[in-house]
Amino acid sequence: MAVIGTDVTEAARRLKAGEVVAVPTETVYGLAANALNRQAVLQIFKIKHRPSFDPLIVHCVNVEEAFRYAVRVPPAAFVLAEKFWPGPLTLVLPSRGVVPEVVNAGLPTVALRVPAHPLLIQLLHQVDFPLAAPSANPFGYVSPTQASHVYEQLGDKIGYILDGGPCQYGLESTIIGFEKNKPVLLRLGAIPTAQLLQLFPDITFKIQVSSNPLAPGQLTSHYAPRKKVLWCQDFEESSDSDPLTAYLVFGSKRPAHAPSTNILNLSEQGNYHEAARNLYHLLRQFDAGPWHRLKVFPLPEDDEGLAHTINDRLRRAAASFS
Ligand code: AMP
Ligand code: MG
Repeated sequence: MAVIGTDVTEAARRLKAGEVVAVPTETVYGLAANALNRQAVLQIFKIKHRPSFDPLIVHCVNVEEAFRYAVRVPPAAFVLAEKFWPGPLTLVLPSRGVVPEVVNAGLPTVALRVPAHPLLIQLLHQVDFPLAAPSANPFGYVSPTQASHVYEQLGDKIGYILDGGPCQYGLESTIIGFEKNKPVLLRLGAIPTAQLLQLFPDITFKIQVSSNPLAPGQLTSHYAPRKKVLWCQDFEESSDSDPLTAYLVFGSKRPAHAPSTNILNLSEQGNYHEAARNLYHLLRQFDAGPWHRLKVFPLPEDDEGLAHTINDRLRRAAASFS
């Protein structure tokens, strides 16, 4: 079984040897390998049961390194990098061809990010290559936001989990691509949409679902627990006397008929950042708990636009059951 630890040098040693290591990021935990080593990257796909059409994000130590793997970088990409790197932003850019095709799933583009988590940055300084890393969970399942989440699901398939504590955001990175040099939002993520709109009021949204997605975060069903998740517009619609129904609520309101033991609360205080941090942990708690189904409700829109991302994830978690 995997060792959970905080030894950056040990994680670096294993990565240099071509091993896959779970690493913390400020968004969710990643399953990392040397992005320039084809064999190492193939291991990630195998461990995750990730389809080969699903490209990986390449994590770089700094902005200069990230742009070295791209060509024809549009000015808008520099603006976004300046504002959000290091941080929870992924930019999809034309590839220079240095990163092996297996990472990009054969696409002419490469997804790049400069993460902010201090342990991961230390690790990137200790290796002289970037890290390809998708979320450290079996494909389609809920992303891990703590080292223990990785251990529970992939602990028998990897040797080391670098423990950086609970993730600061708890939602995946925001993914932005470009069309005719204009930014296109491919996946809602940890950056609140209001911040993106402030910078690019005319940014295009391409997060609608598709069976041949540019970003698999676009798949209708993704980020999903194994047990049944039901999307309900409001508490009335959710009316249910079954004691095996759990409810994922936000703030002080809850369905009147529901016993308190069946309530999972994203944030008692109604804080959206806390809700984001708790989301995947609570979905896992539901899966591990005694309930048969989970009813989820749209969070009311907030000024920052974080509800936008959280509701997107709740809808996808419920999608395979609707
Ligand atoms: P994950 O890290 O598991 O959240 O998955 C990485 C996400 O980045 C996936 O949804 C990928 O499809 C997306 N991605 C990576 N590379 C590209 C690319 N070249 N074009 C579009 N999306 C990408
Ligand atoms: Mg994922």
